[in-house]
Amino acid sequence: MGGKSPVPLLVDGKRVDGRLPEDHRPVTMRVGVLPNASGSALVGYGNTVVLAAVYGPREAMPRHIALPDTGVLRVRYHMAPFSTDERKSPAPTRREIEISKVVRQALEPVIFLEQFPKSSIDVFLEVLQADGSTRVTSITAASLALADSGIPMRDLVVGVSIGKIGDTVVVDLNKLEDNYGDGDMPIAVVYRRSWITLMQADGSWTVDEVKKAIGLAFRAAEPIYKMERDTLKGRYSEQAIVS
Ligand code: ADP
Repeated sequence: MGGKSPVPLLVDGKRVDGRLPEDHRPVTMRVGVLPNASGSALVGYGNTVVLAAVYGPREAMPRHIALPDTGVLRVRYHMAPFSTDERKSPAPTRREIEISKVVRQALEPVIFLEQFPKSSIDVFLEVLQADGSTRVTSITAASLALADSGIPMRDLVVGVSIGKIGDTVVVDLNKLEDNYGDGDMPIAVVYRRSWITLMQADGSWTVDEVKKAIGLAFRAAEPIYKMERDTLKGRYSEQAIVS
């Protein structure tokens, strides 16, 4: 965020890729893409593509991480070296460690972890292409992969990023908007329960803008939530929506 964008981010109310402020990029999803995983999903938000793989519940290893009366959720978010314009070192960065933690916290409230004492559920998120909003795309992918694995869940989670270009609140930041916009607010929504399980913010926001951001996040989450459910019903069939 910050710095001067090489191109204007908003011209006559339209964004660099032609979207209106409230438009989400096209979403694609597919489940069951990795036969050896307990559950898996491939999710695209525009050119951002994330693969999620779930293993478990299985005996928690190393043993000292096991808890006697509940299961442990572990999440590893990683950007593939080829996911960005310039090769990214495969070693985990501080950013990846932080994102792993917030994605885990966005998912924990919906999983019945108490049904799996001494066990771990391991979620691996591999960003295959990064074009902004990778953490929220990861949340949607992880939620789908967990549901695909059959782990009991209270509901599905949808990630949506909200941003600011000048004073305009926009939905689903691409990389240019993320890097040069004036605000970034990733939000995870548990749609049917009206819960927010993740909300972070960069930039400065008025209270009215925050309220607008939450409203836009729920509006954008609705079709994505429906698509998650439809994708899970029609396993192996690819779904795509354009908002
Ligand atoms: P998010 O991907 O959730 O929006 P950030 O705001 O940290 O998370 O990153 C914004 C975007 O910047 C990413 O989606 C990605 O396109 C790009 N990016 C992040 N880290 C790197 C990196 N190490 N090299 C190149 N681009 C990166």
